[in-house]
Amino acid sequence: MVRDVIILGSGCAGSTAAIYTARANLSPLVLEGREPGGQLTLTTDVENFPGFPDGVQGPDLVDLMRKQAERFGAEYKSETVTSVDLSNRPFTVRTEENEFLSRTLIVATGASARTLGLESEKKLFGRGVSTCATCDGAFFRNLEVAVVGGGDTAMEEAIFLTRFATKVLLIHRRDQFRASKILVDRARKNTKIEFVLDTVVTDILDPGKNEVTGIRLKNRKDGSETTRKVDGVFVAIGHDPNTKVFEGQLELDGGYIVLRDGARTSVDGVFAAGDVHDKVYRQAITAAGTGCRAALEAQRFLEEEGR
Ligand code: NAP
Repeated sequence: MVRDVIILGSGCAGSTAAIYTARANLSPLVLEGREPGGQLTLTTDVENFPGFPDGVQGPDLVDLMRKQAERFGAEYKSETVTSVDLSNRPFTVRTEENEFLSRTLIVATGASARTLGLESEKKLFGRGVSTCATCDGAFFRNLEVAVVGGGDTAMEEAIFLTRFATKVLLIHRRDQFRASKILVDRARKNTKIEFVLDTVVTDILDPGKNEVTGIRLKNRKDGSETTRKVDGVFVAIGHDPNTKVFEGQLELDGGYIVLRDGARTSVDGVFAAGDVHDKVYRQAITAAGTGCRAALEAQRFLEEEGR
């Protein structure tokens, strides 16, 4: 059986593409991937997604999108892509369990925020630990937070968080920055930001209380250890787009899928949406918007082929 559309990924981008292609009678198959529902499932309150004046829980939002897609006939399978063959049409998509053929593909495999790898970070994720200041900054009004990282994202997030927090600790493992000089200078001039350099976070307190109360730090130069009180921790140490299976088959830039003319990738009939191509905005609403775009383009592509 050759399908019209297979969507890889079930976050905001994937499910929006599923809603649009299902309503166009294309009976999309959505392969959910390793993190069903995507990054929103790792957050709690979402207050900036239009249409929810009282906010919505991240997992509930993706669940609603999935239900909406299923109502129009989208089929979800909890399988993860292990390899693809984009050299011939129809394209071949393999999972551990199955092999599928499709005339078009919409890649919405997302990106995963890098984390510090601490057990306490995992336990407190969405409960004071976040990887997105735009999403969660407003919860820290009149509180103290830490931002970890030395790149542009860390600087931008630290500066943004000073709108809410009374103090922002900027913790970086070296004393040199990857961030552009202009952003470092702007952060340095901000009196609410305190730079804590050559320092790593060794623990986040306090999983026992189910909230963030502080962080344990270690200075890499002199080995000294300290505990600082904070109410939130923003980990801003980069993202990894989930594109391993497309290496050598789709044009990538730093791991992100390169798009042209909207949602088109370097292979005709393969479209992409969401964080897998977007290292700038990374918002649920922009992912949903590009999911719509990819769906409309896949639909047009099939129409041009006489489907
Ligand atoms: P990035 O440039 O890769 O920086 C990641 C930072 O996290 C680095 O300072 C790195 O430290 C640190 N880090 C990595 N792993 C760590 C770990 N395990 N523990 C502690 N620290 C760790 O990532 P990004 O800041 O997200 O930026 C990604 C891209 O988007 C960049 O090209 C950036 O320029 C761009 N961007 C641009 C803007 C803008 O222009 N306004 C805004 C945001 C992002 P080391 O330096 O020691 O490796």
